[in-house]
Amino acid sequence: MTSISERLQAVRTSVDDAAIRAGRDPRQVHLLAVSKAHPANAIRAAYAAGQRLFGENYLQEALNKQVELTDLVIEWHFIGPIQSNKTQPIAQHFDWVHSVDRLKIAQRLNMARPEHLPPLQICLQVNVSQEQTKSGLSMDETAELAHAVAGLPRLKLRGLMAIPAPTHDIELQRAQFRQVRETFETLQQQGMMLDTLSIGMSDDYAAAIAEGATIVRIGSAIFGPRNQ
Ligand SMILES: *Cc1c(COP(=O)(O)O)cnc(C)c1O
Repeated sequence: MTSISERLQAVRTSVDDAAIRAGRDPRQVHLLAVSKAHPANAIRAAYAAGQRLFGENYLQEALNKQVELTDLVIEWHFIGPIQSNKTQPIAQHFDWVHSVDRLKIAQRLNMARPEHLPPLQICLQVNVSQEQTKSGLSMDETAELAHAVAGLPRLKLRGLMAIPAPTHDIELQRAQFRQVRETFETLQQQGMMLDTLSIGMSDDYAAAIAEGATIVRIGSAIFGPRNQ
């Protein structure tokens, strides 16, 4: 069996190679290790191998692991759907939130962000697959929400996040990521200081990096399959 440390090293090398193939500096692409459904000791193993950024989808699961890992200096990213009654603990216990898709959630995170912490780093989740069931903003809604969030003092808007429909067609992967990048560039042209494109998971990160990903969110390629 391959260890977490070996898989992490292989993913890092592969992320760097994808950046170089895309003519980009590998230091522009940050690896977020998605540890949902894996225990605290899996995070500890990845941390021992040098990983510092971890992503979690489910609040209670994440809080349980955080109390076991208080001796580690981890940058915690919340990447799951947000219920409005969970905004306070999210604002208190995470450094980043990637899944903001409505103003009410942004306002509540802003209100709840403790004064002794730096502003909460925010990505807006945009919908590229155009499926009504998927969460995320339409391209038009994104610009409106981005301008509103930029005015909230306890939040720092960093960029966009997306979870496209899964496909093994590399060109289709790229086309979906390209839509996100185009929205991102439009916002930048409107004067917004954005630096983060959170796109790419275990099965499509090379395409995401080719389209400008600055954070890839990788779970199973590092930690192995999840039990459903
Ligand atoms: C689970 C998850 C990931 C990681 O998915 P893998 O396919 O295991 O790499 C990334 N982003 C989000 C939002 C997720 O929910």
